[in-house]
Amino acid sequence: ELLPVRRALLSVSDKTGLVDLGRALADRGVELLSTGGTAKTLREAGLEVRDVSEVTGFPEMMDGRVKTLHPMVHGGLLALRDNDAHVAAMNEHGIGPIDLLVVNLYPFEETVAKGAEYATCIENIDIGGPAMIRAAAKNHAFVNVVVDVEDYSALLDEMEENYGKTSYGFRQWLSQIAYARTAAYDAAVSNWMADALKIEAPRRRAVAGTLAQTLRYGENPHQMAAFYRDGSARAGVATARQVQGKELSYNNINDTDAAFELVSEFAPEDGPAVAIIKHANPCGVARGETLSEAYRKAFDCDRTSAFGGIVALNMPLDVETAREITEIFTEVVIAPGASDEAIAVFEAKKNLRLLLTDGLPDPRDPGFVTRQVSGGMLVQDKDVGHRAMDDLKVVTQKAPTDEQMRDLLFAWKVAKHVKSNAIVYVRQGQTVGIGAGQMSRVDSATIAGVKAQRMAEVLGLLESPAQGSAVASDAFFPFPDGLLEAAANGASCVIQPGGSMRDEEVIKAADEAGLAMVFTGMRHFRH
Ligand code: 5GP
Repeated sequence: ELLPVRRALLSVSDKTGLVDLGRALADRGVELLSTGGTAKTLREAGLEVRDVSEVTGFPEMMDGRVKTLHPMVHGGLLALRDNDAHVAAMNEHGIGPIDLLVVNLYPFEETVAKGAEYATCIENIDIGGPAMIRAAAKNHAFVNVVVDVEDYSALLDEMEENYGKTSYGFRQWLSQIAYARTAAYDAAVSNWMADALKIEAPRRRAVAGTLAQTLRYGENPHQMAAFYRDGSARAGVATARQVQGKELSYNNINDTDAAFELVSEFAPEDGPAVAIIKHANPCGVARGETLSEAYRKAFDCDRTSAFGGIVALNMPLDVETAREITEIFTEVVIAPGASDEAIAVFEAKKNLRLLLTDGLPDPRDPGFVTRQVSGGMLVQDKDVGHRAMDDLKVVTQKAPTDEQMRDLLFAWKVAKHVKSNAIVYVRQGQTVGIGAGQMSRVDSATIAGVKAQRMAEVLGLLESPAQGSAVASDAFFPFPDGLLEAAANGASCVIQPGGSMRDEEVIKAADEAGLAMVFTGMRHFRH
C-alpha cells in the first residue's frame, strides 16, 4: 500500500514553488523528468533534470501542442505495476514507470479573464496536461498526481511521514482533486465557448452532473431550463420514481425538494407527518395520530394556499390520505412508498404527479449547496444543524412545559425550512401561522398572526389558533418588538437562537409578557 516515489514528471505553467519542490524530491533521490520551460527553471536552480523529449525521442513540436503525448510518457503513467503483461510491455519498449506527476495547466481561465482574443484563448487550452493528469489519476493505485501548488506541501509531508513513500489513501485523495481540476478546466472551456457563441441552451452548459431532463421551461415560461442529477443516491426528487401524472416542471422539482427535505426532519418512528409547500415555503406542516389526520391538520393551517400545493409525507401513502388529498387540486405528492389502493385512488386524477422514493433522506447527511451569483457561484455546506431538548437553554423565569417543549422543537424544525425572516406558530403539532420571507422580523410575526386569524375564520374557530402557541424565530430578535408582536398574537412560549446585543432587553420583555423562552444557540437563515 505504501509505495516509493522514484521517478517524477514535472510540467507546470505556474512555476511557483517549483524549485523548492524539485529540490526536496531530488534530495530524496527522486529522478526528475520535465518539459521545456519547467526543465529550464529547474536546471537554472542547479537541479539535475531529464528532458521529456529525450525520453520520448521526439522534440516538443507544433508550438508545444505536442510535448508529452507519447507512449513513453503515458505508458509510464498508466502501466499496472502488478500486471505481468503491463510489466512485459514496459520492458519490451523500455518504458520507465512514472510514480509522481506534477502538472498545472496552461492558464486558460486567466487568459479568458484578461479578455484575450479567440485564437489566444484556443492556444491556451492545455491538451497534454489534462491527458497526463487523467492518466495518472486513473492509475492512482500506483501513481501520485499533484495539480495544485497548494498541495506540494501535503505531498512532501506524506513522503516525510512514510520514508519517501505514499499511501493508497493519499493517492486516492490526490486523484479525486485531479479529476475535479480537469472537469472544471473543461467546463471553463465549454462555458467560454458558450459565451463566445452566445449559446443559451441550459442543457448544453457544462455543469457538474448528468442531464436528467430537459425541462419545458424554467421558473417562467420565457426561461429555458434543464435538470441535472449529481449522482447522489439520496432519497428525493432526483431519485424518485414517478408513478403517474404530468411531467415535472422546474418549479415542481424545486418545491418537491423543499417539501420532502422538510418532512424528512420528522422521523417516522415519532409518528406521521405531512408538509404542504407553496413557492418553496411551507403553508402547513403537521403531525397526527394517522397520516390522514396529519394531512388534514397541515391542510387546515392554510387551506387557501394549499390549493395547487406540493404534499410530502414521511410515511407511505395510504388509501385514506390519498382520498383526502384528491379532494383539492394538488400538483405533486411525494412519499416513501404507497399502497396499491392509494395508487388506485390517484389514477382518477391523471395530472396529479405521484413520486415514490425508497425511504426518507437523512437530514443530517452532509453535502453542499451552491447558488449562482453574477460572475460566480457560492458554495456552502448544507444546513444539517439540529437541536434537541438538551441543547436548549431556558432564559426566562418560566420554563416551557413538556407539551410546549414538543411544540417549540416542532416549530424550530419547520422554521429551518422557511425563507428568512421566518416566524412559525405551532399548537399541538400543527403549524397555525407561518410568516415567511419578510425583510422585517416584526412583519413576519404579524403576517403569521394574520394567517392564524384567517385559519380561525375558515375553520369557524372561536379564537385564533395562535392563542397559547409556541413560536419559533429562525434568527434572534434584535429588539423586543418582534417578540411582543408574537405575544400579542397569542404565543405563550418562544424558541430562538439568542445572541443579540439586546438579549437582556428581549428576555425582560418575555418575562413581563409571561412567556417561557429557550435559546438554541444556532441560527437557521434560509434565503
Ligand atoms: P513547460 O513550461 O514545461 O514547457 O510547459 C508546461 C505546460 O505544458 C504545463 O502546463 C503542461 O500542462 C503543458 N503540457 C505538457 N505536455 C503537453 C502537451 O503534450 N501538449 C500541450 N498542449 N501541453 C502540454
